[in-house]
Amino acid sequence: MIHTVLVVEDETNNRFLLKTYLSSDGYKVQLAKNGEEALKMVAENPPSAIILDVLLPNMNGFEVCRKLKSSEVTSFIPVIMVTALHGNEERIKGIEVGADDFIQKPINRVELLTRIKSLLRIKRLHEALELKVNELEKAKTKLRKLAVTDGLTSLYNYRAFRQQLRQEISRSRRFNLPVSLLIMDFDHFKVYNDLFGHPNGDKVLKLFAKRVYQNIRDVDCLARYGGEEFVLILPGTDKKAAKTVAEKIRRLVEQTSFPHEEKLPDKRVTVSVGVASFPQDTDDEETLIKLTDKALYRAKKSGRNRVITI
Ligand code: GH3
Ligand code: MG
Ligand code: MG
Ligand code: MG
Repeated sequence: MIHTVLVVEDETNNRFLLKTYLSSDGYKVQLAKNGEEALKMVAENPPSAIILDVLLPNMNGFEVCRKLKSSEVTSFIPVIMVTALHGNEERIKGIEVGADDFIQKPINRVELLTRIKSLLRIKRLHEALELKVNELEKAKTKLRKLAVTDGLTSLYNYRAFRQQLRQEISRSRRFNLPVSLLIMDFDHFKVYNDLFGHPNGDKVLKLFAKRVYQNIRDVDCLARYGGEEFVLILPGTDKKAAKTVAEKIRRLVEQTSFPHEEKLPDKRVTVSVGVASFPQDTDDEETLIKLTDKALYRAKKSGRNRVITI
């Protein structure tokens, strides 16, 4: 890769000497006679590095450097300031305005080229590091998502469900709103698996997740509770409304065509649903889950493919 170096120097002889040195080492060289010209050139076509004289007409090198380092677009371009022979104060000032390195007049060719090379190497490493940091951030986001996602259905997993339920209950407590919970369990799912195999059973679970997800509100939270059991949190929904939702889902499952279902003893795949509500049934999260599960148990006991509220 050919790097472009911008030389900002008001003295013609120095300017061309620098150009000769840089060109001899394979750099493309841009020349500017003053600060204003330099800033314009950087904005139009950012170079890989800048050699900046301190003494310039109008805007001096420190001001130019400060401007370059205060803009997000140009701050990453290394700046080497050209100082007078005994320019300690100039160096201190240069550091304050963000200069990356210094070189003294009269300029030594080898020193100049060595410094540029080392600054460009640092810049390259910095860019590589930034890429890695970006990759890492993306991986972190992905991991965070994976930690709350069920692998088979892409729904929330048990852990995420517990988090959501805790959040919804505390919100409902604060705003004095109801929240309802549904637990849905497939009827005789063992029979389905035994007849058509576990992979087909998995397809049923995936299709169920998709269909239900398409039929709930954005604020509702559908999660895989475990195995062939799913939960649905309904914020702002009392028991009566929750029962309607549960009945809608029960019917949706009954009416959905699942693979091979016509060969089942009942000729269809169905679910049983238990419903309980906060605060009508309990104001405790743990108890809400227990009561919903109890309602589900009753739905099973009383014949399956039905909704029971506690
Ligand atoms: P019930 O009507 O009483 O619910 O009968 P059931 O056979 O569905 O019994 P249960 O609810 O205890 O469900 C357990 C069955 O669900 C057995 C198990 O093979 C199946 N199952 C659980 N998790 C999965 C899964 O991830 N994939 C598949 N394919 N089957 C699963
Ligand atoms: Mg000068
Ligand atoms: Mg079960
Ligand atoms: Mg079951």
